[in-house]
Amino acid sequence: EVAIFWFRRDLRADDNHGFYQALTSGRPVLPIFIFDTEILNDLEQTDSRVTFILHEVQKLQDLFEQNGSTFWIYQGKPLDAFKRLLTEYAVAEVFTNLDYEPYARERDKLVYEYLGTQNIRLRAFKDQVIFHKNEVVKADGKPYTVFTPYSKTWLSKLTSRDYEAFPSEKHLGNLVQTDPLPKYHHPDLGFKHGPYNVPPLELNVSLMESYAENRDFPAVAGTSRLGVHLRFGTVSIRKVTAEAVKHSSTFLNELIWRNFYMDILWHFPHVAQSSFKPAYDFIAWDNSEKLFARWCEGTTGYPLVDAGMRELSATGYMHNRVRMVTASFLCKHLLIDWHWGEAWFAEKLLDFELASNNGGWQWAAGSGCDAAPYFRVFNPELQQQKFDADFRYIKKWVPEYGTSAYPSPIVEHKTARERAIRVYKEALNER
Ligand code: FAD
Repeated sequence: EVAIFWFRRDLRADDNHGFYQALTSGRPVLPIFIFDTEILNDLEQTDSRVTFILHEVQKLQDLFEQNGSTFWIYQGKPLDAFKRLLTEYAVAEVFTNLDYEPYARERDKLVYEYLGTQNIRLRAFKDQVIFHKNEVVKADGKPYTVFTPYSKTWLSKLTSRDYEAFPSEKHLGNLVQTDPLPKYHHPDLGFKHGPYNVPPLELNVSLMESYAENRDFPAVAGTSRLGVHLRFGTVSIRKVTAEAVKHSSTFLNELIWRNFYMDILWHFPHVAQSSFKPAYDFIAWDNSEKLFARWCEGTTGYPLVDAGMRELSATGYMHNRVRMVTASFLCKHLLIDWHWGEAWFAEKLLDFELASNNGGWQWAAGSGCDAAPYFRVFNPELQQQKFDADFRYIKKWVPEYGTSAYPSPIVEHKTARERAIRVYKEALNER
């Protein structure tokens, strides 16, 4: 009988909690991966994230083969994968890591129930975050909805045990030994190599040490670019946290934001569809398709907004400061429903993470749990003066800025600001 370890958003063999539990369970472990067509069917054929996943899966397969084992790979629906798997192997238990997104919870519930009918247990472990579920809650047991007190409790609970590694990589000898090796060929998913390159995985000490000083300036390569690696689990959050504890409390604070949004999504899954604060679902958006297109292509006439949108389309990344400015601009200046922007970012960002993306958008729209107040409207020009004073970032992405080829502003700041405040107020006062 074998134990299964089901890889998902944890594409690494080292310091992988669920994998470690499987490998030390006393049974030989068969690692599996499912290319979930329920997810893939919704993606563009040139989605760079799929290229990245394929690459990482291949790396793991090579590693398992070097250890005399195999990687069982399936393309289709997860439930069908398990039905098939049970015809090929005598399975005692299935191990995996928890995933907190609504779709994943639904999927795991179905698999859990199916395996239950076969008397097989599905065991899911905490791996994506340092704390989850009810580990960081208020004294009365209710979830926090404001970041500052959440982060205080988070920090007060943190001990080095919370980021101690699970040395899964030391137990690869416990993988199922297959002789001869069955060759699983990678399914042809019909995806073409996407346009974006994933930044290399680096835990850079000097970057962390100067993070607090540099992180707000988009022209400076002052942030870690770890988002995509945390998203797909090619790096362990425990390892990153250990480094942050040593080198930068500001960096650690950002990891706490990530954890906060994951917890918000867990406790309030409705945010994936609608506003955290329901009154904000009644804003009378203008939703001009024409203006939305201008925002997407980066021709709004506001150079910091345009630079950000072009960086996103060209690289699959946008600097955090500029994410805030472009998001606020869409919701407030253009009065376009934040869901439109959320979806655009979700399609483009290599580091797209439902919890953080949704949290960031609801923050910018004012509809979120701990959001910018609705009357606070970022002034894109002032943001540029503060964070890209020498136009270095802007010149990189908007080379025609300052020439006659550059468009004039599609909305006037003062008028747009007043309109946003008025329309928001109307929605909020009526509730
Ligand atoms: P660094 O500055 O080096 O930070 C290190 C890590 O901390 C990040 O990789 C990320 O995991 C976490 N982190 C940093 N800032 C935040 C934050 N504000 N909220 C939550 N986690 C944070 N982040 C995503 O990971 N995926 C998204 O889809 C996403 N969408 C966003 C949308 C909007 C509108 C906004 C305002 C922010 C969004 N963020 C998102 C948060 C943040 O912009 C990115 O995490 C960050 O820019 C990624 O670059 P980095 O890896 O170099 O980050």
